[in-house]
Amino acid sequence: MHHFRRTLVTSALPYANGPVHLGHLAGVYLPADMYVRYKRLKGEDIIHIGGSDEHGVPITITAEKEGISPKDVVDRYHRMNYEAFSTCGISFDYYGRTSSQVHHQTAQEFFLEIEQKGIFQKKTEKLFFDRKAGRFLSDRYVTGTCPICNNPEANGDQCEQCGTHLSPIELINPKSKLSDATPELRDTMHWYFPLGRFQEQLEGYINSHEGDWRSNVVNYTRTWLNQGLKDRAITRDLNWGIKVPLESAEAADKVLYVWFDAVLGYISFTREWASEQGEGERWKAYWQDPQCRLVHFIGKDNVVFHTLMFPAILLAWNERRQSNFYNLADNVPASEFMNFEGRKFSKSRNYAIYLGEFLDKFPADTLRYSIAMNYPESKDTDFSWQDFQNRTNGELADTLGNFIKRSVDFTNARFDGAVPCESTPEEWNSLGINWQSTLEQIDLAYEEFHFREAVSLGMDIARAANRFLTVSEPWKMIKIDQEGAAKTMALSLNLCHALSIILFPVIPDTCNRIHAMLGFDGRIEDRCLQGKSLVSSLLLPGLKKGHHIREKSEILFTKIEDSDIAPELEKIARLLAETEKHEAAVEQRSVEFKPVISFDDFLKIDLRVARVIAAEKVKKAGKLLKLQLQVGAVTKQVLAGIAKYYTPEEMIGKNVVLVANLAERSIRDEVSEGMILAIEGEDGRLFVLEPEGNEINGKQIQ
Ligand SMILES: [Zn+2]
Repeated sequence: MHHFRRTLVTSALPYANGPVHLGHLAGVYLPADMYVRYKRLKGEDIIHIGGSDEHGVPITITAEKEGISPKDVVDRYHRMNYEAFSTCGISFDYYGRTSSQVHHQTAQEFFLEIEQKGIFQKKTEKLFFDRKAGRFLSDRYVTGTCPICNNPEANGDQCEQCGTHLSPIELINPKSKLSDATPELRDTMHWYFPLGRFQEQLEGYINSHEGDWRSNVVNYTRTWLNQGLKDRAITRDLNWGIKVPLESAEAADKVLYVWFDAVLGYISFTREWASEQGEGERWKAYWQDPQCRLVHFIGKDNVVFHTLMFPAILLAWNERRQSNFYNLADNVPASEFMNFEGRKFSKSRNYAIYLGEFLDKFPADTLRYSIAMNYPESKDTDFSWQDFQNRTNGELADTLGNFIKRSVDFTNARFDGAVPCESTPEEWNSLGINWQSTLEQIDLAYEEFHFREAVSLGMDIARAANRFLTVSEPWKMIKIDQEGAAKTMALSLNLCHALSIILFPVIPDTCNRIHAMLGFDGRIEDRCLQGKSLVSSLLLPGLKKGHHIREKSEILFTKIEDSDIAPELEKIARLLAETEKHEAAVEQRSVEFKPVISFDDFLKIDLRVARVIAAEKVKKAGKLLKLQLQVGAVTKQVLAGIAKYYTPEEMIGKNVVLVANLAERSIRDEVSEGMILAIEGEDGRLFVLEPEGNEINGKQIQ
């Protein structure tokens, strides 16, 4: 394996148009944080870069909806998400924003570099234009009726009701969200990035990581490669974003597409971090030194942007250069999704637990632990309140917290708060755990992004330690065997110390409190491993004979009562009921077509434009109107079940669509020589179809 001198970790940039929820935490931010904390613990050179993605159409739409500026929107969510991450202990070295000046410069630099090499292509396409607003409308700015489910408020890119991906021109009755005007199609020119140009290089890149990347990441990327990479637009007609840095008229009012700009944020923010450190050029050691390892933490919905598109941008930069080459990612540990009580998180349905709200009620470490135990490494997992309560009470409070507190309290009560004797690593095997191989496994699990395995092995040790203390009964033993009790406590305290290190990447705040209870000043990460792995650091006991612990213990975890989560469960029940009601409505509205017929079958139906020349109610048949229809030179009588909705007077003079060759039927002693077409609207109300045009009477409809 390549030896790296330092590591750069990036976390997917959350979109500054809403608060982050627990699904985001589970997929990206917590795993990234556990990884960097583990590496820092070993004293490795590592930085963690993140920030807000602040451009793109949804932000301008939110701004217009609320009557505020896009800047107001991104300010709000940048602050909100940054605070939630801080409270959760996500330890970024730098958390930037793509609206910053440095980022605008970086993205424009990339654009110009690639433009000057002649790599981009320009293409003209047709796009909806709002004449009233004087602007081109990107997909999200067009609304209309979904052709699939008839949802009258479908978006130009997707119908939220039935989930179908749409293009704005597919919408029935398209409307501009800016002015309600019906938009018209106009030509517009855009820059495209020819991904296919890098197909071979990217295939080589992916092949070279076959064994070390997660198979779902490789497989998903291969699907794209196998289909052949297509050109991708990198500019849009929008007034919020990074301007295309050219003076020409065709560049006016165009900004960089957010997919192109956002991934470059990682570079911009590392630059900003370096400036903040007072070493402006230091960022190059992380991006352009081949001895630095680049790792992107993302969710599975972001894979190809990090395995194909961002690498392609960097390859385009690197092409024909003499120096300042960018590194491509060494790993992209994309996660699967974490669901919530058996269903997908959904921002639009408000079916989510937002990180900030959660942390207002429960401590960060209980959440971090629960989520780490359910880390969606290779398949989707689930967060449930019940599981959260069980893990907090059973594993954190009753097992880990209880073991630490009993060890500290008993040492204070009976051994004057000092480690009573030496404890050797060999004794640690009396727990029934092979200490060395367990530690090797934990090291490897953290190194290779198997976070659930790392935290599970840590909790296994806590369980074994808690059992050991209970079974050893030092409070009884001390009366007959002072030395035996002393050995038990020396081992227990060293286990407390070991656990505070092993679990530190997962529950850092708790582990620092354990560390303080054990009599240490400062933070764990500042003193512990000093360049060693967990194995080499913990094979020597951390606490020697005579080491003084703190006089007072503390309760590390408060149990979660049923009454604490009752309101949350109620809320879920309500949201689920709403979702189900909504889904039932969608199902009703979705279209189920009749079996296919041939064109010849269709031609058998003779549809004609007819005019109602007389109409009356049918006696003893309240629903029926008897209509006399003029069809060219012929007159036909038709019975129609529309009496509830149309008076005879209203019908006279209307043009209707007649099925002219339908077999005759008799109803209530009256003959019907055909049928007229009508649509059933809401509540069963019928609307007669009325064809429009001049001189159309008697004409065939086809
Ligand atoms: Zn739809």
